[in-house]
Amino acid sequence: TMAELSEAGSITIGTKFDQPGFGLENLEGEVEGFDVEVAKIIAGALGIAPEDITFEQTPSAVREEVLEGGEVDMVVATYTINDKRKEVIDFAGPYYVAGQDIMVAADDDSIAGVDDLAGKRVCSVQGSTSVENIRTMAPEAELTEYDVYSKCADDLRNGRVDAVSTDNVILVGLISESEGAFKLVGNPFTEEPYGIGVKKGDDE
Ligand code: GLU
Repeated sequence: TMAELSEAGSITIGTKFDQPGFGLENLEGEVEGFDVEVAKIIAGALGIAPEDITFEQTPSAVREEVLEGGEVDMVVATYTINDKRKEVIDFAGPYYVAGQDIMVAADDDSIAGVDDLAGKRVCSVQGSTSVENIRTMAPEAELTEYDVYSKCADDLRNGRVDAVSTDNVILVGLISESEGAFKLVGNPFTEEPYGIGVKKGDDE
């Protein structure tokens, strides 16, 4: 796989386009962030220059299927390594360990942790470990699900939900762009080891 990619001189990498700090499309149409830099380092080691990388927007729910279908060569997208995903794809890593946390409006002091989400309107993303964890750890929460986290942030800003829950590092990025509207609860309740997703069997 590595030799083929190196020979081709180009690579297609799936990442997020709406997660400030990890993968965010800027006004020039380029993506930037920690995952994008990790992707560039890996491509660089294969002899592929940054300008020869095609970044594909890869929302949480489609990560396995774009790898299985060969639409991307790898996925670097705040992607938690777990056994369920390992049934259909392989992971390299972890290269970072995040923890699931909660983001609320800056003036909301009613939520101090996952146990306070009962009866609250909580937003998360389809196909993420975050939404599964809310289902099991806060079964009484009223769940809204979107394809991307930026839509959850929009709902929190408009008061359509009370909280957004996913990895702390994703929330911190959204908070940094919220002009003081949001804050982090700061009480992580899971461990999310991030890996690089590759097609199953691409062990090399
Ligand atoms: N790390 C978690 C996951 O892979 C949540 C973040 C995300 O959806 O990208 O599902």
